[in-house]
Amino acid sequence: MSNAPKDAPTVAPATNFIRNIIDAELAADKFAPRRWSGQPGLGPQQLCGAPDTAKIRTRFPPEPNGYLHFGHAKSICLNFGLARDYGGRCHLRFDDTNPEKEEKEYVESIIDAVRWLGFSWQDEQEDNLYFASNYFDWMVACAEYLIESGNAYVDSQNADEMRANRGTLTQAGKDSPYRGRSVAENMDLFKRMQAGEFADGTQILRARIDMASPNINLRDPAIYRIRHATHHNTGDKWCVYPMYTFAHPIEDALENITHSICTLEFEDQRPFYDWLLDHLAAGGLLQRPVPQQIEFSRLNLTYVILSKRKLIQLVEEKHVTGWDDPRLPTLVGARRRGYTPEGFRLFAERVGVSKSDSLIEYTLLEEAMREVMNESTERRFAVLDPLKLVIDNYPAGQSEDCVVHNHPFKPEFGTRTMPFSRELWIEREDFMEVPSKGYRRLFPGNMARLRHGYVVKCTGCEKDEAGRITAVHCDYLPETKSGTPGSDSVKVKGNLHWVSVAAGYAAEVRLYDKLFAYPAPGSRREGDAPELERNFIDDINPNSVKLITAWLEPALKQAKPEERFQFERHGYFVADRIDSQDGAPVFNRTVTLKDSPTKTAS
Ligand code: ATP
Ligand code: MG
Repeated sequence: MSNAPKDAPTVAPATNFIRNIIDAELAADKFAPRRWSGQPGLGPQQLCGAPDTAKIRTRFPPEPNGYLHFGHAKSICLNFGLARDYGGRCHLRFDDTNPEKEEKEYVESIIDAVRWLGFSWQDEQEDNLYFASNYFDWMVACAEYLIESGNAYVDSQNADEMRANRGTLTQAGKDSPYRGRSVAENMDLFKRMQAGEFADGTQILRARIDMASPNINLRDPAIYRIRHATHHNTGDKWCVYPMYTFAHPIEDALENITHSICTLEFEDQRPFYDWLLDHLAAGGLLQRPVPQQIEFSRLNLTYVILSKRKLIQLVEEKHVTGWDDPRLPTLVGARRRGYTPEGFRLFAERVGVSKSDSLIEYTLLEEAMREVMNESTERRFAVLDPLKLVIDNYPAGQSEDCVVHNHPFKPEFGTRTMPFSRELWIEREDFMEVPSKGYRRLFPGNMARLRHGYVVKCTGCEKDEAGRITAVHCDYLPETKSGTPGSDSVKVKGNLHWVSVAAGYAAEVRLYDKLFAYPAPGSRREGDAPELERNFIDDINPNSVKLITAWLEPALKQAKPEERFQFERHGYFVADRIDSQDGAPVFNRTVTLKDSPTKTAS
């Protein structure tokens, strides 16, 4: 089925409690009776359809009120991944039932992000992209059925009275004086709510369940409220809007969702989810079996903030350059950082799903990115801290091509040529006038190999008045060119990368590091005074980005936006899609080759 990403996952899916549930249900043929009309709809419509060819249906239901982050990526990989692995389908549904908060620009960005992660809601038969706001008619029908069956009433208490009568965790609530209204009166009031006769907050439709329930969510929860607001999709058609806890189960049922997977904070809502769908199915509005809610623990990562409110603060207070700042845990940021969709999918498989809260090490995400990029990126030479190397016995003006494999173990990635000349850039750290113990690279009298080129012998260096080294001198050994017979007759221990001064070019490179200097930004640390309150903003890493001018080998000039490379010895880098319009691209460092401790201010 074409829910599958273009390339298969790199690891076999680990089993988990959700897969165990699905396995057992499929073995019992639980979903066999379900019919699907090809579109969302109430039970009678679905029952006219054919048996549902999707073995299971899951959904990713974002509210279009912000940019997606790493936590959403986990949810996307989970929901689309389950559908892929079980011959099911996963819907992309915009949960846009709240008229005030949503914006259209987010819809496009979310669609992009899900596609970018490698998933699709379309196949030959179906296109499962939905907007919950298209279901308002059906939601009202469900609400009216609850009124008719004596399971809902219009409450005219104000918000304070309702709050006071709700009770507490230890104390039962009190029935509203309006709880005993007749069906006819409730129906009349609900119709008048819809007609716009009442002001916001003056009437509310509530389910009639049990004001003494130990679960506060079952104490006659509100299901429809009055809001005179313009909705981005339905305009001014409605002035009543469903509450999330009423809307979401119905959206799932209308779409034939089998498994409504959500994060743990919705666990206490599950009894209402079940109550609602069971009543609506009993009334013939929904087919059985109805969807079931399954909770898992949300993704928490060290050094990362995934709270929408805090992310907004970072952007608005300009601690970052925008929503797509490569240091932010948004998917638009990750993309500019060079993170790969395959890396996210691998990471999601590895962290798995569970019901217990856990904090995942950020290094696990970076490791997944490295693993994917080690396989998939071509190698290039870049000198980040340049020092000039002059080969005194190499003719000035001469240049020769060195043929280099683009990948050390993937011959299919082909080769490229790198021009070799008398003057080269090498890394400043690859020369020491007075070598430390065990140092194997260049120092006066020592030999090292210029990779893919020649072995050179260091003869000395030049300095400026301040004593800073400005150039290194050496002689090359003509018979040692890499790839020629006998080139390895001279054994050396040091291997350096280099870029030709004449053929290479200077470019801006951004070295990104973690945005926060502490694993749990804003939380208390050992030894903190009891009265100390920390703010996550104070934990921002002052060294989270360093702009440098590096020397790059000529082949990099042609890099296209979002093309990724390994700069040998330095890490993985991506051509920035935003800053590459005129001329050669700027490169962003995605991740270093190895994990290195974050440098903090203190
Ligand atoms: P909010 O509810 O504050 O607007 P949200 O992050 O829950 O923010 P939604 O658009 O409701 O945003 O989320 C869409 C889906 O992504 C939900 O199913 C939610 O459970 C899931 N999700 C959000 N954050 C995480 C996370 N950190 N880990 C796993 N799943 C997440
Ligand atoms: Mg949410």
